Amino acid sequence: MALIIRSSAIHAAGCYTTTPIRNGQRVTEYTGQIVTKAEADIAYEDSPITYLFGLGDGAMVIDGHSTAMFINHSCDANCETSEEKGHVWIVAIRDIEAGEEITYDYCLYDGGDDEARCNCGAKTCRGTMYSPQEIRRRKAAAKRALTKKRGKRKAGRLEKTGVA
Ligand SMILES: [Zn+2]
Repeated sequence: MALIIRSSAIHAAGCYTTTPIRNGQRVTEYTGQIVTKAEADIAYEDSPITYLFGLGDGAMVIDGHSTAMFINHSCDANCETSEEKGHVWIVAIRDIEAGEEITYDYCLYDGGDDEARCNCGAKTCRGTMYSPQEIRRRKAAAKRALTKKRGKRKAGRLEKTGVA
């Protein structure tokens, strides 16, 4: 298998295969220094771009430093990640033709105020690189904030009615 990095329509640079890949085949490993989430947060506090990959429960992260860090997100990806004994593999979830861009679903969480907008162009695009669970969590949080505001406004109107 031969992977190359070149410009991508999804985002800046992407990772492409020059040979066909079979469904279920390991494409590459996500390697880099393993640091604690807290260390990474401090190191990348002011950096808009990071190549961190959360391990297990997310307490430790891989600070990407290899081909895999160039793999872009897609909502209709041809690969997924698989964590085995502390190693993260990018594994094909369908047959991939030579020349195709390698993608996996980032399923982001913990993005702060960042919208993490997605440009993957898939028909099923979620519009964001956040995981479906994270989208639900964020929607619920936004709804809670909105309900609070509405509640206040309602209270104001009731007061007025009371006066009239
Ligand atoms: Zn998308």
